[in-house]
Amino acid sequence: MSSSISEQMERELMRKLKDPRVRYLDYFSGEFDHVAHLTPDRVAQLHTLQSIDALVGRVWSAIASSPLPDTTALVVVSDHGMNTEEGVYSQGYNLVDWFTSAAGGAHHVITNRHPMTEFKLKGIDPFVSEVITPSQESAYLAGESGQYPTVVLDLDGNERASIGLRNNTLNLLQILLEQLTRKRLPGNVRRAAIDAFFEILGRERPAWTRNVAALEEELRALRARIEMQQKRAGAEPSQWTREQRDLGLDKDARRQANRLEAWKAEDRAYSDYASTISRLLALDPSDFDPGKFKIEEVIPRRSLGEPNSIHALQNYVVGPGPDGLLVAANGNLDMEKSFRTLDYFSAIGALSVRNNVQKAVSPHPVDFIAVPVKDGIWLRGSEDRQALVFTRHNAAGRLELRYMPVSHLKQDAAGELHYDCPDWSAGFPLELLEDPLLDVPPAEREAWLGEWHEELDWLRAVYRTKYSNGIIGLAEELLSDPAPSPYLERKRRLRRADLLVFASDHWNFNVRGFNPGGNHGSLLRVSTHSVLLISGGKDTGIPRGLRVATPYDSLSFVPTILALMGKPEPALPGPVIAELLATGH
Ligand SMILES: [Zn+2]
Repeated sequence: MSSSISEQMERELMRKLKDPRVRYLDYFSGEFDHVAHLTPDRVAQLHTLQSIDALVGRVWSAIASSPLPDTTALVVVSDHGMNTEEGVYSQGYNLVDWFTSAAGGAHHVITNRHPMTEFKLKGIDPFVSEVITPSQESAYLAGESGQYPTVVLDLDGNERASIGLRNNTLNLLQILLEQLTRKRLPGNVRRAAIDAFFEILGRERPAWTRNVAALEEELRALRARIEMQQKRAGAEPSQWTREQRDLGLDKDARRQANRLEAWKAEDRAYSDYASTISRLLALDPSDFDPGKFKIEEVIPRRSLGEPNSIHALQNYVVGPGPDGLLVAANGNLDMEKSFRTLDYFSAIGALSVRNNVQKAVSPHPVDFIAVPVKDGIWLRGSEDRQALVFTRHNAAGRLELRYMPVSHLKQDAAGELHYDCPDWSAGFPLELLEDPLLDVPPAEREAWLGEWHEELDWLRAVYRTKYSNGIIGLAEELLSDPAPSPYLERKRRLRRADLLVFASDHWNFNVRGFNPGGNHGSLLRVSTHSVLLISGGKDTGIPRGLRVATPYDSLSFVPTILALMGKPEPALPGPVIAELLATGH
């Protein structure tokens, strides 16, 4: 069965090639990706490449005998490379197990796939979008995994993981409420805990009040759109003619109907969140009785809340202290001793395995962590080896970057960053200074890396290095221009993970079933380097036998194809591959 879908796709592709009205066709093969994930064996991988090669040959022959051979181009592109090496097994590190353990904070964890799929029948269901793995060691949320998962993991990057942790203040407030409602606290502890609760809430109150008000305004606009969309859906015909179907109108209507359902679901979930936070903000110290309400009425369920600051992640509350809540000499709650905290940067950076079974693979699964900071990105390899990548836009509106080695970065409660500026040496994140393939003369490197350069200059200088165009890829991933509306900007901000963790060479986080053959998703050149081959009929103007030496990244793909089709879209990001359009056009 496994090859039946690709065989059917090929048959359809060949049939459509004969139809001169069809101007664009594509075919996706995950075959090499699949095999190379499974095994580093050279013969098995070669066999797959040969079968893809044969497919390309069949398509090329079909184009030659199609009605439009002279104006048709065949384009072969891969979306990434593959970190696979004969004799080396890619090792998996299970971040789900770590986060559910006491050492990792004893969180209930949400993933978008079943962990260890290969070993359970549930894993066969392909339509899963959310799986909760409960912690058996939860410090204050035991048995509440369905209501209060506190970590969201996206491990589909394989060689990278996106990690979202629940807002630290929600943890603090929930622990205090939990202690106040479920424990018989002595009078002075109880008073101190209530004071602490309102002091913490008071600190967040201005920002959270503004935020809920803005969200409610955005939701009113969303509801207006829902109403319009509903009218539009009501006006659609219930039967479609053949002609309408050929134009794709029935599919368009289905898309619009799905969009309507998605908007309604968003409205429900965000409204729920807004009213829960509003009830929390409305709690009044003069009339406060934790027995009068349920925790889920004031602490939003199934929500991470607002994103965490670096300060919060460096002082992240994972449970009450070993002796519960304690009162300091001045009568206030002792905030140090009353809670157990973790610094997630050092904890994740320090992960290691005891059984080091392969010489080529280090015992440390994590290479570095990346997080956005004001006007840049912080890269953390270890306490001593860190970097800040600063960004700005120049007069022409183009992004510029510069790199600075730092160490011991901390953020204080007010949001200020504090760090040391060590001398340059080898071993800082992205390993640019020492890379033999960095296209900057060794004597000029320290100065060059610290100066502002445009993205394209960075691409030319770094594309052959160990981490390839990682520095601009990180800026692309972690920083972006504001979205066209406050609501879209909010969704984008909420989707952004707290921590982006990159795996060390030959490590992966694919907890679905650790791909032993190889992986991709890191910034390593072997994982990011991709293939682009274009061959066109004689009227396409595509040069023959030309090897393009200029580096381009995948943002150039779509603008180039559109330009070749005579439908240029200059507003798209990424330059057109000029060499392909040099003749003709
Ligand atoms: Zn893959």
